[in-house]
Amino acid sequence: MSFKNKVVIITGASSGIGAAAAKMFSDEGAHVVMVGRNETSLSAVAKQCPSSLVIRADVTNDDDARRVINETIKKFGQIDVLVNNAGMTIDNGGLLGSDMMQAYDSIMSINIRAVVHLTTLAAPHLIKTKGNIVNISSTAGMVAINSPGMISYCVSKAALDHFTVCAAVELGLHGVRVNGVNPGPVKTGFIDNAKISVSWDDASRMTLLNRVSDPEEIADLIMFLASDRAKGITGSKYVTDNGMLIKRS
Ligand code: NDP
Repeated sequence: MSFKNKVVIITGASSGIGAAAAKMFSDEGAHVVMVGRNETSLSAVAKQCPSSLVIRADVTNDDDARRVINETIKKFGQIDVLVNNAGMTIDNGGLLGSDMMQAYDSIMSINIRAVVHLTTLAAPHLIKTKGNIVNISSTAGMVAINSPGMISYCVSKAALDHFTVCAAVELGLHGVRVNGVNPGPVKTGFIDNAKISVSWDDASRMTLLNRVSDPEEIADLIMFLASDRAKGITGSKYVTDNGMLIKRS
């Protein structure tokens, strides 16, 4: 899975799955463009990536999104892979909570609107390289999570899954592949950041294999989908959840 001389943009590369993916792509020879708001964390990850570009950017800000693409082209001249990984949720109490619409707007803004925007900006460059996109969704896009406050997150990831298919249809005409990854629980700061009251033991018990994933497992799948070994795969979503969904069924 060599990515020698390939240019890979990863949003949310300052921690968790995005940081693991940045290191793995870099190990395979890629020039890695690392996007996030926390420059200190981005720079710490970048130290482990010999050819990298750190771009401090909020993906929900349209000017920042344009800057991500412009600075990438200025430094590396091309884009081969876009990994739309930045995402978040807020446990806001759900439909009966007091700040539902505020939470809905910020979650949708990061988890779907920013993905659509970055895709439109990267698409002309990806067409030139016959590159591809990997969108990081969640099993929450495929089933309703029975936890107050997760509704906006579930809706955002379901929208992302459908966007992946629609974008694959449109961009496939130009030789660009678009795929999605739907993880179950992954050991990152995500759950703590969202202030969701679920322990890792609770999360393990929700899965058939009684375990949660490490970020590197998700990064592996992202890399496979971005590589030429997946040249026949587009418009697909790949679940990596330790059997959580089938345990529910
Ligand atoms: P982390 O919280 O570790 O990573 C989230 C990343 O998103 C951070 O690097 C953060 O960077 C970045 N980010 C958030 N908002 C913005 C923004 N407005 N602009 C730019 N970057 C932003 O969690 P994970 O690694 O777990 O999450 C990565 C993806 O995986 C998300 O899309 C999440 O929905 C998905 N996922 C995670 C699961 C899990 O259990 N961990 C399960 C299923 C899916 P910074 O703070 O520097 O801006």
